[in-house]
Amino acid sequence: MTASAAGGAPRVANRKGDSVPPVVRLCHLYPQEMNIYADRGNIAVLARRMAWRGFQLKVTEAGPGVKIRPGEADLYYLGGGQDRDQQQVAHDLLTTKTDAIRAAFDQGAVGLFVCGGYQLAGHEYRAADGRVMEGMGVLDVATEAGGSRLVGNVEIESRLEGEAIRIVGYENHAGRSSLGPEASPLGRVISGRGNNGRDRTEGAFVKKFVGTYLHGPLLPKNPRLADTLLRWALEFRYGERFELKPLDDRIEDAARKAVKSLSRRRRSSRPRSVSRRF
Ligand code: GLN
Repeated sequence: MTASAAGGAPRVANRKGDSVPPVVRLCHLYPQEMNIYADRGNIAVLARRMAWRGFQLKVTEAGPGVKIRPGEADLYYLGGGQDRDQQQVAHDLLTTKTDAIRAAFDQGAVGLFVCGGYQLAGHEYRAADGRVMEGMGVLDVATEAGGSRLVGNVEIESRLEGEAIRIVGYENHAGRSSLGPEASPLGRVISGRGNNGRDRTEGAFVKKFVGTYLHGPLLPKNPRLADTLLRWALEFRYGERFELKPLDDRIEDAARKAVKSLSRRRRSSRPRSVSRRF
């Protein structure tokens, strides 16, 4: 099996020994209920970046009541939601999906958890009304709602794979997240508020599971992050190193530049923290 063919798209051998394009299986958790910030845009980016390279992203959707089993997916995705959306799925997540997701996490599968999804990937989320939602506990993070919302464009410096890269996005959350010793921050805040507005961390990762407050959606403006997740998922699935062919990211780079200048403008004005009314 070769993962990087010279010229032409890489092929892998299937169970029958035929040469086929590599496939990543993505499990989209609660696509209806947790989709507040155009989270499907993240899935669309992953699918297109695979297709442009001659690969395939197979997406299955797992909504309320759908029991998932370990080994069915290489990449798990859970998007953002308001407190009431999270409340609606939190119990179902624990009873029908968490065992399989934890097993996949232990084996080295990949996950991306955004905003409300990030909070539910942690240990718990204490909402503004005092109700506590137990999370999956795959990320060593605990979250509590604060008295104001942290809103605006954000830029962070991330060292997800050692080398520093910039990640941009938009945040809008009441939750203040604190990282435990098992979790590393996804990045250091250059501008914006991040996990809690205090310690200049944003997001978290443990093994190959990544959580972040950044949306907008996140991946159209951050193609390097999208490719990191895809490469990890391919390597998890096929057990060997993949080199992903670079793509023409000029449009994505222009979008990044626009967000960077907006978020830097934010840095030079007072940090925006909006009192909670919505
Ligand atoms: N419950 C979250 C909050 O802190 C929701 C975040 C989100 O997904 N917008 O506001």
